[in-house]
Amino acid sequence: MSDLNACFRAIPSTDKCLEALAAPSEALAALVGPDVLRAVREAPRRLVREAVQAFWDAKREAVRQGGSRDAAELSLEASFAELAAWCARQSAPRLQGVINGTGVVIHTNTGRSVLAPSAAMAVFRAACGSCTLEFDGETGGRGSRNDLLSYAIRDLAGAEDGIAVNNNAAAVLLALDTLCKGGEVVISRGELVEIGGSFRIPDVMESTGVMLKEVGATNRTHLADYERAINESTRAIIRVHTSNYRIVGFHSAVPTDELADLAHRHGLPLLNDLGSGSFIDFAKAGLPPEPTVPECIRQGCDLVLCSGDKLLGGPQAGIIAGRADLLARIRKNPLLRALRMDKLSYAGLEATLRLYYEPELACREIPTLRRMLVEPSELARQAKALKARLARALKGACSVGLAEDSSRAGGGAFPECSLPTTLVALRPQACSAAELKRRLLALRPVLIGRLENDAFCLDPRTIEQAEHARIAYLLCRALSA
Ligand SMILES: *Cc1c(COP(=O)(O)O)cnc(C)c1O
Repeated sequence: MSDLNACFRAIPSTDKCLEALAAPSEALAALVGPDVLRAVREAPRRLVREAVQAFWDAKREAVRQGGSRDAAELSLEASFAELAAWCARQSAPRLQGVINGTGVVIHTNTGRSVLAPSAAMAVFRAACGSCTLEFDGETGGRGSRNDLLSYAIRDLAGAEDGIAVNNNAAAVLLALDTLCKGGEVVISRGELVEIGGSFRIPDVMESTGVMLKEVGATNRTHLADYERAINESTRAIIRVHTSNYRIVGFHSAVPTDELADLAHRHGLPLLNDLGSGSFIDFAKAGLPPEPTVPECIRQGCDLVLCSGDKLLGGPQAGIIAGRADLLARIRKNPLLRALRMDKLSYAGLEATLRLYYEPELACREIPTLRRMLVEPSELARQAKALKARLARALKGACSVGLAEDSSRAGGGAFPECSLPTTLVALRPQACSAAELKRRLLALRPVLIGRLENDAFCLDPRTIEQAEHARIAYLLCRALSA
């Protein structure tokens, strides 16, 4: 018992720990990296205090549970490095930077699209000051945010009108709530998709009180299937782009223009949820054909809905483009208020859309497009440069090689299309690739990659040259642990 008490007495007071963390002696400071101490100093005091208390609570519990009873191990000096690292981690912001080495271009878990520099600047300016979000520039009175981006959506989609909302799920909700409430919407069974995060399109639709009238079979739906399902309760036909999978083999879907003709013959609108909508025809760059927003409008869709942060490459947003009379009804829906975007997203989305006025500029400036379109030879060059840098930095701690492989678009775009790339493959000497991957999760920024053939691999497709130095630093840290 006495050694237990000696242990507990050796534990420094919370105030003493806080003092040491805020202004460590030279000897203590030498035990931890400057970034750890800076992170602790910049965190709110209350979070650091709670972290210190939790640290010692866990130590006390470990001693009680029969862990080491060497009081010297519990002194401030002996525990300082561990304590500081723990406090830095526990009190850090939850939203941390990630270096995306996975090669997945639209990586939903890490925030989807990276903004173009002009869009990021627009967000910054809007954040730091006031702006004309709901300000009528002519009269100085109140304007509407819902008209702000109509010009760009009209121009780029070739549509009569357009608005932007919180995200594409909100766009789907609004369109159905406005146009179809209390009635039925006809949809093909082949298009009842779940898009990840257990978000199912049918669930969103049904939450608006709209009945889904499912037609056809999973792999084949014919025009006659749609036609038979139309009755006096039908309010619209909807098409959902099956963006994250593709049915191959014995499969048929009705072409969009024929579906539009059918809808119009019955006085119904055709809605098209494109998911990862694009204003650029990727087929020109050798990628499989994907419907673009302007193409869908040309084919007769009355409303086209898409995300702002998937292939478009902007901030989280939902875009609704289409017929002016339908958008006029959506503008009057009180739900629009609940699903509206904030000024930061408007700023980012407008700057992104403006780049599309010159498609070459969009392809150069918008990281999502650039990463989709980069040549394999350029990726091989970047992989070689990264490999050379890492081989220098990591010396013998790790073998560094190259491997031909492929990247994925992600975000539910181009599901079965593999984009050729060259990976930098790391095989540590002293630990497994899986262990390296795990250690990198503890560092900041987090570096993520993928495990292929017992190697931790980095794909240059989603890495910027400016990140190479930090990647080398993080790997050095992880491999010296
Ligand atoms: C991604 C996706 C959505 C949801 O878009 P968010 O912008 O994430 O709300 C809806 N429909 C389809 C077909 C999608 O691929």
